[in-house]
Amino acid sequence: MTSDEPTSDVSGKSLSSVHIDLLENLDSTLRMIISKVSESGFSIWIVGGAVRDSLSKISLHDIDLASNATPSELMQIFPSSIPTGIAFGTITIPSKGNFGDIEITTLRKDGTYIDRRRPESVRFGTSLFEDLNRRDFKINAMAIDPINLLFYDPHGGQKDLESGILSAVGEASERLEEDGLRIMRAYRLMCHESGPFIPDENLSQALIDSVENLNSISRERIWMEFSTLLSYQNVSEVLHRMVDDGAMNYIIPGSIDVSGIDNCNFEGITGYNLMIGRLSLLLKSFDEETVTKILDELLVPNKVRNSVTSITKRIGIIPSTESKGCLRRYRIALGDDMFPQMSAERGHSLQESDKLRTALSLLPALSGGDKPLVSGSEILSRLGIEPGPLLGEIKQWLFRIQVENDIPDSDSVWEKAESLGFIDKPLGEHRMWV
Ligand code: ATP
Ligand code: MG
Repeated sequence: MTSDEPTSDVSGKSLSSVHIDLLENLDSTLRMIISKVSESGFSIWIVGGAVRDSLSKISLHDIDLASNATPSELMQIFPSSIPTGIAFGTITIPSKGNFGDIEITTLRKDGTYIDRRRPESVRFGTSLFEDLNRRDFKINAMAIDPINLLFYDPHGGQKDLESGILSAVGEASERLEEDGLRIMRAYRLMCHESGPFIPDENLSQALIDSVENLNSISRERIWMEFSTLLSYQNVSEVLHRMVDDGAMNYIIPGSIDVSGIDNCNFEGITGYNLMIGRLSLLLKSFDEETVTKILDELLVPNKVRNSVTSITKRIGIIPSTESKGCLRRYRIALGDDMFPQMSAERGHSLQESDKLRTALSLLPALSGGDKPLVSGSEILSRLGIEPGPLLGEIKQWLFRIQVENDIPDSDSVWEKAESLGFIDKPLGEHRMWV
């Protein structure tokens, strides 16, 4: 990659080895994008999280690019690009590279903020300095010029990163007043893998003073930030801070117990399951109706809502590790919620749940598979009953017998049921787990 003189209005210094590594490891799509913008006579910079995370030597999950080309100029350079956020200068280039689709945002300076969430106007510009000034935190306000091999850090982001400090670009209270989402971003970044970070005095106070601005932020955006935060490794201190600062009230209103939340994490659990387990634990002291109301108000996706409501109800109701039958029923009842349930149980009671997790991991797969061996039509023809709720109960009850006793075929399920005295009604509980 070659080019003329640097075009930025802020002085850069040469790249450190981590940033050279970052550039050397860019995939062919990103290299192509950078070269094309540069060959068209514009500048391009890597900005935001990738610059921060490579300094912290953690793996990158996306790359944000900025350019002095306007959105329409960028769309001419990349005819297949999509104007995903044209009002704010963002175009997206569809890509199957390491980071999926790539976004490029035109350098901009934001006008006055209205609604406490978006600027009244944005001015596309040519100033890298102004673009870095509009960014939220110093650790996020650094840039790399991949053509001229320069690093820009006009606000001392690297120093903050090294000392584990989170501070706003400019006056913290003004920046949080402008855009309330920055409150959520601040808490999320405090427990980000590139940290942990402690907010400086200015930001700490502003977070308390501006907390009401969370009212102006859409529930979807709050949920996005909060759910991402819950998927990080260690979040306990930050959640305590959110409770103390009053921010948690805007997410989960009422008094919540944050203790044990870091125990929810265990080796091998995915970020998604960890988030579900933690959210369930946070909601465990509420009754079912309140849990549903809180989740509805947060506009969580249906899949999350269903898992969290079931897991929350079950926390602390665990099978005896001595009984294989109970363990088998428990595993079937949990299905895909097994890992998040284990996560929530760990937060609830570390020792008990580790014993249970070990017992479950040693439990062999069911010899008859995970589905009922006796079908509804088989029950109807054998018992001569009409379809209806009784059919469902019988089917569940027979499945329960199949699982509890690890029965391999349907004839043996009937035999077992009859040996228990079954004629035409379930004998006892038909649900898999309560
Ligand atoms: P992550 O690693 O989670 O992606 P990120 O810092 O890259 O963290 P993005 O949401 O991808 O987060 O945002 C990219 C960059 O855009 C940020 O680093 C920051 O510079 C800027 N930014 C994002 N949201 C805001 C905001 N609300 N106010 C100011 N700047 C923001
Ligand atoms: Mg990012």
